[in-house]
Amino acid sequence: MGDLSRNFSRAEFACRCGCGQDAVSLELVTKFQKVRDYFGPLRLTSGFRCPEHNRRQGGVPNSAHLAGLAVDLECTLSLSRYILIARLMEAGFQRIDIGKTFVHADLDTTKVKPSIWTY
Ligand SMILES: [Zn+2]
Repeated sequence: MGDLSRNFSRAEFACRCGCGQDAVSLELVTKFQKVRDYFGPLRLTSGFRCPEHNRRQGGVPNSAHLAGLAVDLECTLSLSRYILIARLMEAGFQRIDIGKTFVHADLDTTKVKPSIWTY
């Protein structure tokens, strides 16, 4: 049980540097909960990021993580990646980044969409 949605707690979206910042978009959480409903358990490796942590992670300066509009999900298997991306698209995510060990999805309206790119 979560305090943000059925399955997610605010802590899961908080900045990983320990600064305590967790200004995640509720629209993001709502859409992401839909993905979780169909996909099953998901592990977030990154949600909200403060500017300092984003820099250290090598994030782009205008990263959607800074606005609380992005999630990175651990995903390494080709079948899970396929299903996860299908669910993300069904839930309304139109910006998806595919890495070797993760899938990033965001709702950044200042950037081009729809788009799937590789890290
Ligand atoms: Zn931080």
